[in-house]
Amino acid sequence: MKAAVVNKDHSVGIIDKPVRALKHGEALLTMECCGVCHTDLHVKNGDFGDVTGITLGHEGIGVVKSIGPGVTSLKVGDRASVAWFFRGCGNCEYCNTGNETLCRSVTNAGYTADGGMAEECIVVADYAVKVPDGLESAAASSVTCAGVTTYKAVKVSHIQPGQWIAIYGLGGLGNLALQYAKNVFNAKVIAIDVNDAQLDFAKECGADLVINSRNEDAAKVIQEKVGGAHAAVVTAVAKAAFNSAVDAVRAGARIVAVGLPSESMSLNIPRLVLDGIEVVGSLVGTRMDLTEAFQFAAEGKVVPKVTMRPLEDINAIFKEMEEGKIKGRMVIDFKTKK
Ligand SMILES: [Zn+2]
Ligand SMILES: [Zn+2]
Repeated sequence: MKAAVVNKDHSVGIIDKPVRALKHGEALLTMECCGVCHTDLHVKNGDFGDVTGITLGHEGIGVVKSIGPGVTSLKVGDRASVAWFFRGCGNCEYCNTGNETLCRSVTNAGYTADGGMAEECIVVADYAVKVPDGLESAAASSVTCAGVTTYKAVKVSHIQPGQWIAIYGLGGLGNLALQYAKNVFNAKVIAIDVNDAQLDFAKECGADLVINSRNEDAAKVIQEKVGGAHAAVVTAVAKAAFNSAVDAVRAGARIVAVGLPSESMSLNIPRLVLDGIEVVGSLVGTRMDLTEAFQFAAEGKVVPKVTMRPLEDINAIFKEMEEGKIKGRMVIDFKTKK
């Protein structure tokens, strides 16, 4: 079967890779599609270490073709996900307390395990989340990574219906955060970005207030107009956005960090202490979070923007990504050509 693997020279090769026999608890998926994520770019460039030969892809959706011994959670014909959180140890303090994505012995698809950017993919059945009927595979692939990440972040922000949430960065992640905040949590959404096109799209998706932080001091506007946000989710990859979020919220608010700039943010300690501000990080989502995120997307509350591409385009897609030319999600189509 064809698979997109990481080459030593940081390009991606499309090779014929044999499929091994299933072990206890595993299932084999015939892949329908797999989204291309910025994380894949880091993996193939060796930014997280050399993983030459690994099959990329952690936004995969496939149909169960066969199951190994002992599998009860999936059956042949089910659709299931191949997510970044590929499997935990199932037995540690994190796995046992609803924080499985923090498991210290975690395996990640398309990085430490062969991922879903291939015609077939082996998953650990209990860790592959079923896709509900009524949710298209292409949309589901985006929910598997960007969707669950932002759904979880909004959940972690503790936002309540009718409260104001500030979302920094309205790209692929931020736009989904906006939709989950607005349509699932019934929050009022403030969208902050430096790009007017992203802000226009945010408005179309129901943002209650949009601010271009290149022209205006976002924190000041938010304090003046709504008395400070009740929570903030920062998907922007810029330190300035994190600093602005601290100034944009009201006392007792939570700021959830999702974006990964390499710098440190500035934190005014009296501000944190006297105003009881919390700053927390949020990493992807658990299997239960993904189940919920899928369900809301199946109900039409969240609609990811996707473009289908053939596997042969993979290196071109990474080039477009590096040049910042991608809008929405590029999704590799494995279904059409068969
Ligand atoms: Zn991803
Ligand atoms: Zn664990």
